[in-house]
Amino acid sequence: MKSEGLKTPKPNTALVIGGGIIGLATAYSLCRRGLQVTLLDEGPVDQRASSATAGIIGGSSVIPWAHSKLWPRLPKHLLNREGPLRAAKPLPKNLMSFLMRGLQAGCTEARAASASGLANLGLRGWDSWQDLLCDLPDARDLFVQNGCLFYYESEKDAFADSSSNAIRRSFGMDLTELDAADMRTLLPSLTRPAAAGVAVNSAGHVVDPIGLQEKLQKAILGTGAKLVKQRVNNFEFVENKVVSVATDEGCYEADTFILCAGCRSSVLAAQLGHRTQMIPAWGASVTFRNSKLDLRIPLLILSDGIAVTPASGGLRISGLLQVGGAGNAKAMIAALIDHAKRLFGDFDYTDIITFAGPRPLSADSLAFLGVDPANDNLYHNYGHGHWGLTQAAISAQIIGDLVLGLDPKIDISAYRPHRN
Ligand SMILES: Cc1cc2nc3c(=O)[nH]c(=O)nc-3n(C[C@H](O)[C@H](O)[C@H](O)COP(=O)(O)OP(=O)(O)OC[C@H]3O[C@@H](n4cnc5c(N)ncnc54)[C@H](O)[C@@H]3O)c2cc1C
Repeated sequence: MKSEGLKTPKPNTALVIGGGIIGLATAYSLCRRGLQVTLLDEGPVDQRASSATAGIIGGSSVIPWAHSKLWPRLPKHLLNREGPLRAAKPLPKNLMSFLMRGLQAGCTEARAASASGLANLGLRGWDSWQDLLCDLPDARDLFVQNGCLFYYESEKDAFADSSSNAIRRSFGMDLTELDAADMRTLLPSLTRPAAAGVAVNSAGHVVDPIGLQEKLQKAILGTGAKLVKQRVNNFEFVENKVVSVATDEGCYEADTFILCAGCRSSVLAAQLGHRTQMIPAWGASVTFRNSKLDLRIPLLILSDGIAVTPASGGLRISGLLQVGGAGNAKAMIAALIDHAKRLFGDFDYTDIITFAGPRPLSADSLAFLGVDPANDNLYHNYGHGHWGLTQAAISAQIIGDLVLGLDPKIDISAYRPHRN
């Protein structure tokens, strides 16, 4: 295994908390840099955001979720059981403070800063994955770069997204406007015609997100790393250092610690005094196995909050956003199946596989990424929200640099873990 610009490795051992795509990419990046890694993960693979993901790399990845036009419409959105955004009980305890912070993050200036922070990570998504996986050709083969399409059912939908497209272009995203005839040619299987579309030419997708996690895990274990299926309950400190983490079954020591526990990171971050403004924003996916539909390019229907992705062995439809509900995704799964029927009519498939997972959604749409201000051997890497698959490899490389005492390739001040 090659090293990534390694100078003198400072710590010898690293403990990564969380084995979703962020934790796996981080663990793998640290293994490549010669560290002895222990990865702790509490839960089943099918309850991760990383398993429910649509798999798109760099689709609309520079647009923050919070914006001033959302607030007047929010109550109507949350009460509409058929819409892209819904609420279910129990609601997250910090929902009010999260929304208040989201209100600030949606103001013009703050929103521009969030877009820039998203672009800094998101637009490096494809290349950083290629770079991270340079020694893992079978994992790299799961990535395809065919672009993706924004689907607009009406000219009104296309117009509503035009200001977001202007922001995307301002960051250098290569977009091509498409008319109804172009969309018909590109999407022959669609029975619900589009009035217009936009092609995001540099986007890519992962054909098998679970396969990617499995291949990363295998590669990590292949370096001699340990995988421990336990939940981390708390950190133990001596002066300004973390010395171990405690689980129900014991303590695990290391030289350096990286918190990558997705939306549950805020529970552990609270022990460090951080009031992380993040909620679990549940989403779901349905994969129609052995569907014969001819879809080569992923499709994003932003007005419905869904994506359709060609997947190995089928067709995956995913998305929606449920605040609360503690993982009860039945309504979202039923809605996704309805969406598929509306898009493709009665199509053939043999069976379906479903996943639901909580996106770790921050109020300002940005990840929490960097060294802890009070404990200099503890690093944060979570809160990647809608675009964690896209941002995983670049975030992992940033953590790898920080752990080795190297300057990260980009300015990471916008992602300070202690902001609230
Ligand atoms: C429906 C849907 C569609 C999406 N589509 C896209 C897309 O097209 N492109 C894109 O870039 N992103 C997409 N995303 C977002 C992306 O999937 C997430 O941002 C990303 O998966 C988050 O990864 P994670 O590792 O932080 O969290 P997770 O995948 O949730 O993993 C967190 C892990 O931490 C573990 N954990 C939690 N607490 C502890 C603890 N105390 N001790 C030990 N382990 C712990 C959990 O068991 C879990 O395995 C989508 C998300 C959803 C839900």
